Amino acid sequence: MSLSNGQIPAFAGGNSTLDQPLRFITPTIPPLEHVLNIYRAVYENGALTNSAIVARFESALAERIGVRHCIAVSSCTSGLMLVLRSLGLAGEVILPSFTFFATGHAVVWNSLTPVFADIDRKSWTVDPADVERLITSRTSAILAVHMYGNPCNVNFLTDIAAKHNLKLIFDSAHAFGSRYDGHPIGQFGDAEVFSLSPTKLLVAGEGGIVATNDATLAHRIRAGRNYGDLGAYDPQVLGLNARMVEFNAALGLTGLALVDRKLKRHNQIARAYTKLLSHVPGLSFQSVRDEDTHTYKDYSVLVDPATFGMNRDELAAALRAENIETKKYFYPPLHKQALYRAYYDPYRHKLESTEAVSGAVLSLPIYASLADETLEKISGAISRIATYQSQHVHCDAI
Ligand SMILES: *Cc1c(COP(=O)(O)O)cnc(C)c1O
Repeated sequence: MSLSNGQIPAFAGGNSTLDQPLRFITPTIPPLEHVLNIYRAVYENGALTNSAIVARFESALAERIGVRHCIAVSSCTSGLMLVLRSLGLAGEVILPSFTFFATGHAVVWNSLTPVFADIDRKSWTVDPADVERLITSRTSAILAVHMYGNPCNVNFLTDIAAKHNLKLIFDSAHAFGSRYDGHPIGQFGDAEVFSLSPTKLLVAGEGGIVATNDATLAHRIRAGRNYGDLGAYDPQVLGLNARMVEFNAALGLTGLALVDRKLKRHNQIARAYTKLLSHVPGLSFQSVRDEDTHTYKDYSVLVDPATFGMNRDELAAALRAENIETKKYFYPPLHKQALYRAYYDPYRHKLESTEAVSGAVLSLPIYASLADETLEKISGAISRIATYQSQHVHCDAI
């Protein structure tokens, strides 16, 4: 069997699948007029930061998530920094190495020592059994990540934290709209921290949300985001300026109305990709429990070079030739990055699944405005590349 001209992948001399380069992400944001409807009066009043719209945004989020306190901050990173600081932690914090580096930064900024736990081979979220294995007398907290919006094993982590008297914090940057056993992410642990940056589902331009049921912690975060000062001009804690500006809160509040539609579309796209790609040899997918809701902030596949006929980096290059941009979320894992290598202890940390997943992961374009036709073309291109490889890699070898 030979491939017709239209079936030859671009990297091998065929035509590109798309005429124009396709951006990896295009944020879906509300019409500016809708944002200005909220923002204009506040602007004209001269209240530009941490004022009435921020307060409204916080209440709307607390109600939606079903949590007592939501505190708006300048970013998820500053939110995580403040949470770890406000919990008065010392010693070691256990976190996955398979995450975005901001998760680790929050730990190191607080002079805490990151300890790397492995991920579950199927869900790609932190493996609670490995977390428990790593606990010592120096451990003060677990910092888990809902990877791409796939909820962690919350019950198992909650039990471990209670049993060992540890704080439990979730980096929920990807998980606004996720549900664990039907309950909104944001309700769990000592605190969960969301990101509202442009690549996330709920967008405020820049911003973060700390969600917690702990009134003392909420009070400290409110002080902490405002230099540590709650108005007495005598800070009791060493804070930051991590306030949210009013415009971002107006954007976030307006965008809140779009979130359910986005969630639905991201889930549709993910299902379509999995359906179209499931017959391609050498690809595998993230498992999600039926009881949970995933946001699919990102959609990634694992590429097995032996079966697919190409490794992940070669597939990324072949897709670039088709005008399809991809990302490697998240490669390299933390323990292989310059800032974190010194914390890696190969005798203590067992990161087999982290290495396997991060070494094979490829994230495909996913956003609400991505058309069915485009995702079908992307899947078609991957399928064609696999077919071409199955016919040519073997010929070369003979
Ligand atoms: C995006 C992201 C962050 C950082 O969020 P910012 O709001 O940009 O600070 C933290 N953790 C993870 C897992 C992320 O993907």
